[in-house]
Amino acid sequence: MLIRRKTHTLQPSDFGLVIWVGSLIAATFLKRYRYQERKNVEDLKNQLFYRFIKRSYLLHPFAFATLVYVLGGFTYLVWVVGVATTWGYHSTFLVNSACHIWGNQAWNTGDLSKNNWWVALITFGEGWHNNHHAFEYSARHGLEWWQIDFCWYMIRFLEIVGLATHVKLPTEDHKLKKSFASVNKFK
Ligand SMILES: [Zn+2]
Repeated sequence: MLIRRKTHTLQPSDFGLVIWVGSLIAATFLKRYRYQERKNVEDLKNQLFYRFIKRSYLLHPFAFATLVYVLGGFTYLVWVVGVATTWGYHSTFLVNSACHIWGNQAWNTGDLSKNNWWVALITFGEGWHNNHHAFEYSARHGLEWWQIDFCWYMIRFLEIVGLATHVKLPTEDHKLKKSFASVNKFK
């Protein structure tokens, strides 16, 4: 049996939906106006490769989607591009909400960022968010051996085979400054 819903104008009960869609749009499009200057990525702006990526940004997802469609048809397009992109976006949003509410703080960052193991498992390591706030330049989010971080394992692999260079990690000096034990020493 086919169940059809009548099309309807927005009701007060749609409030949550409106907020959710609105926040997605805001997170996706408005951020670029807030952070136009991007002063924390000067090192990337100096590199030809990243300037090329930025200039040709739209080309890559469309070329990838076309390739997937040619190789696998519509089913592959839905799963590899549609579902995977949706999963990726929502995982990122989950990090930025859940990891400011639930978890533990390992470093004295002076904010609400938390390390959260279950978010880290879902997001391949991004859930070690307090580590990320403490050392935002670090390629490695899971700083302890038991903090599973698949993104870091991939970066480390690329480094070992010579495809990634100048990989940044927190220095011992910086770790000391961010530790709770040294709060009073450095104030
Ligand atoms: Zn954060």
